[in-house]
Amino acid sequence: MQFTPEHEAVRDTLLRFIDREINPHVEEWETAEIFPAHEVFRSLGRLGLLGLTKPEAYGGSGLDWSFAMVMAETLGRIRCGGVPMAIGVQTDMATPALARFGSDELRREFLVPSITGEFVACLGVSETEAGSDVASIRTTARSDGGDYVIDGGKMWTTNGTQADWMCLLANTGDGPAHRNKSLLCVPMNTPGVSISRKIRKIGMMASDTAQVHFDGVRVPQRFRIGEEGQGFTYQMLQFQEERLWAAATLLQSLQSCIEETIAYTRERKLFGSTVLAQQWVHFSLAELQTELESLRALTYRAVEMLVRGEDVTQLASMAKLKAGRLARQIPDSCLQFWGGMGYTMENPVSRLYRDGRLTSIGGGADEVMLSIIAKQMGILARR
Ligand SMILES: Cc1cc2nc3c(=O)[nH]c(=O)nc-3n(C[C@H](O)[C@H](O)[C@H](O)COP(=O)(O)OP(=O)(O)OC[C@H]3O[C@@H](n4cnc5c(N)ncnc54)[C@H](O)[C@@H]3O)c2cc1C
Repeated sequence: MQFTPEHEAVRDTLLRFIDREINPHVEEWETAEIFPAHEVFRSLGRLGLLGLTKPEAYGGSGLDWSFAMVMAETLGRIRCGGVPMAIGVQTDMATPALARFGSDELRREFLVPSITGEFVACLGVSETEAGSDVASIRTTARSDGGDYVIDGGKMWTTNGTQADWMCLLANTGDGPAHRNKSLLCVPMNTPGVSISRKIRKIGMMASDTAQVHFDGVRVPQRFRIGEEGQGFTYQMLQFQEERLWAAATLLQSLQSCIEETIAYTRERKLFGSTVLAQQWVHFSLAELQTELESLRALTYRAVEMLVRGEDVTQLASMAKLKAGRLARQIPDSCLQFWGGMGYTMENPVSRLYRDGRLTSIGGGADEVMLSIIAKQMGILARR
């Protein structure tokens, strides 16, 4: 991966913003179990950071996805996982399909304000009865005149309590499960949309997660992204960015975890020496760094392929799988070396231990990644 001065400029701008505007507030937001998304996104929007890969015609910078990767990686400097995840939902999970397939009118209405940071976006795919099995979602959007009438609900909606609009996957027809769905832009202030509850979690505390209910919600059909019946396909494409984003953002946070553990164990004395001087400890850290470099190589290779316009389904799934595995292994091993200090809430390693656990579940569980990889390898039949 070749980084240019333009990549470094994005990294520097974002780093300065994180140091000045985000990290000083992280503890307060973690305690409050929410962060002020509108305020933070408007500032990111002013810096041009919410539309790096989006078309210039809609206020974006029209750059390739290596810039999104640099942004995701740099967001790993934030001292919690919840805020980077919320930003990733805005830039690379709820908006790629709209940018790619939305009509000009729809992009002006929802994409432009999502790039300026005026609107907070959320993604509504998962439901109480359907997460890994996306094809089995039950929320319907029934045609009625020039409108859709939406009934059902979405579960685990990141940014859900604050969002202005949702990129919603719903059944718009009765055909086969992979061809009966559409993606719709749904303003969250439409009558009939309600937040059933804010979900409490073991990690990602600063990120709000909502259960959302739809009761006879009426939106015009022009709010549909692209063609009717193509929603499942569009969402599967949108997942590629989400999965690469998840891998990229962990590169830096896992690196910090190793480095902070080295710094702590270098100082911590025991048995006439330091924790770091114990061979088991420094060999383990060397092993973990090697694993992390393999994730970096895999992620960079997948991003290079994406930038060249190649199909990255297999490598993006592998990167997400490996990221999920390391998001468990690295903080768990490092936490051990902090002893009792690792078991406290104030510890950066224990926060990553809790936050990072989500990577093996969200955006497609490890087992879903394994089944995609097996299909790509020709072991399992593709649908
Ligand atoms: C904090 C948080 C934020 C989230 N944000 C969003 C969001 O913004 N928008 C959104 O739409 N969703 C979001 N999600 C949902 C997330 O994507 C789902 O939780 C995930 O897809 C798994 O679905 P599920 O929880 O229903 O688990 P299930 O589908 O019930 O799966 C349970 C377990 O079954 C196993 N499994 C699954 N498939 C297979 C298989 N093929 N073979 C073997 N075992 C398998 C796995 O171990 C899996 O963990 C979020 C979730 C969390 C926890």
